[in-house]
Amino acid sequence: MVRRALNPPAHGWSLTIPASIWQDLQDHLYSLNGGGAVLLARQVDGPRGPRLLATTLIPAAAGTDYVDGTFGHHALSASFVRDAALRARTAGQAYIAVHAHGGAGRVKFSDVDLASHERGYPALRQITGQVVGALVLAEGAAAGDLWLPDGTRTQLADVVVPSNNLLRLRPTPATARASDPAADRQVRLFGDAGQAAFSNMTVGIVGLGGAGSLIVEYLARLGVGQLVLMDDDSVAENNLNRLTGASRADVGRPKTEVAADTARRANSSIALTLHKATLGPTTAHLITSCDWIFLAADTAGARHYANMIVEEHLIPGTQVGVKVQVLDDGTVGQIHAVTRPMVPGSGCLWCNGLIDRTDLALDHLPQHEARRARYLDEVPAPSVITLNALAVAEAVNHFMLAVTNLHRDDVDPASVLVRPRTRNRDLLNPRQDPRCAFCGQPDDDGVGS
Ligand SMILES: [Zn+2]
Ligand SMILES: [Zn+2]
Repeated sequence: MVRRALNPPAHGWSLTIPASIWQDLQDHLYSLNGGGAVLLARQVDGPRGPRLLATTLIPAAAGTDYVDGTFGHHALSASFVRDAALRARTAGQAYIAVHAHGGAGRVKFSDVDLASHERGYPALRQITGQVVGALVLAEGAAAGDLWLPDGTRTQLADVVVPSNNLLRLRPTPATARASDPAADRQVRLFGDAGQAAFSNMTVGIVGLGGAGSLIVEYLARLGVGQLVLMDDDSVAENNLNRLTGASRADVGRPKTEVAADTARRANSSIALTLHKATLGPTTAHLITSCDWIFLAADTAGARHYANMIVEEHLIPGTQVGVKVQVLDDGTVGQIHAVTRPMVPGSGCLWCNGLIDRTDLALDHLPQHEARRARYLDEVPAPSVITLNALAVAEAVNHFMLAVTNLHRDDVDPASVLVRPRTRNRDLLNPRQDPRCAFCGQPDDDGVGS
C-alpha cells in the first residue's frame, strides 16, 4: 500500500461515503463503460459542521447517460440528470454529481466544470429543494462544490470513508503544524498530521467501568481532543480492582466524573462532555456528534443503540467485551476477550447474533422489574483488569491505526478474539445479512431501509 497523505478532520461541510458505496463508485468511475455518477446523501449534524451521508449510488452508463457535452467535455445526459434529481427530491436527499480527474494528491474543478455548475445547479436546486452539487475525485484527493437550499454556495471541507483505515480526502493535502513535544515519541509513529488528526477528533465512550476507564486513559494520552463520556453508574467498592483512575475516596462518585479526572490528568486541555445516563432511545442523540464510538457497556440496549448510531450516522465504532465463563459446578470455563470493529455497512451486531432480543426487551422495562426478571439468582461475573486491558489495547490500537491510516489493509473488518487460557487468538470476519434493516444496502427508492 502506498502511504497516502493523511488529513486531520476539517471544519465545514463533509461528505461521508460508506466503504461499500465507495468501492462501487471507484469501480464505476474507472471502468470502460463508466464515467459519471450521482450520489444521493442524507444530511445530519456533525462535530465540525453539517455532514452529508451517502445512501445511494446512481451510476451513469457511458454513451447513454454520460455523453459528449456541448461544451467540449463529458457530461451527464439531461434525462439522467432529471431522473436522478427527481429521486433526490422524493427521498429528500442531496444530489451530488461525481466524476474523476487524473493525477494524485490534489484535485480541483476545471473552468468547464464550474461553468456547467453555474448553468445547471440553480435550476436543479429549485427542482429538488435540497442541497445539490458536484464532487470531483483524483487519487487520494476530493473537492466538492455545494449549492445550498438557502441560496448560498459552499465548498466541501472533506470526504470521509469509514473503513479499516479512516480515509479523509481534501482538494489539497493539509499542512500540519508541529505537535506538542510531550507527544514526541508517538509523533515519530503518526507524524504531525496523525497527531493533529487525534486532537481534532471527538470520541464517544459508552460505559466507563473496567474497560471504559482504560479506554479513557488511552485516548487522553494519545491526544484525542474531545471525549463524550456516558455511564449512569457510580463507583462501588468492588470496582476498585479494575477501575482505572479510581481510589477508595471515589466510592459513591459518578463514574463519569472519575473518568473526567483521569482524562484531565493525562491531558489538561482535553474537552469533555459528561452524560450520567445509559445509552437508550432518549440518550442516543447525545453521541451522534462523534467521529468514533467505543462501546464498553455490555447490555443489549447499549449494543442496539450503538449499533443503530453506527449504521444511521455512518460513525465507525468499536465494541469491547470480556467474558469469563463460570460453570454450574463453580469451575472456570473459557475466557474470551473480544474487540469488534463496527464498520458502517459491513455486517452489524444484529447480523452477527450479538444482540439478544429477550435481553433487549428486558432493557426497556423499568429498572427494578428488569432486575427481578434477570438477576434473580445471578451472581456477579468475574472481572479482572488485565483481561479488560487485552480487549481495550486491541480496540484502541485499531482506532489509532485507522485514524492515522497505518493499517496495511483498507477494508479488513475482522474482530479479534483472544482466549488467554489457551493462549490463542482468532480473527472473525463479520457476517452480513443483505436484508438487514440496519446495515443492509438501501432499497431502490434511495431512502435506505
Ligand atoms: Zn472535471
Ligand atoms: Zn446488519
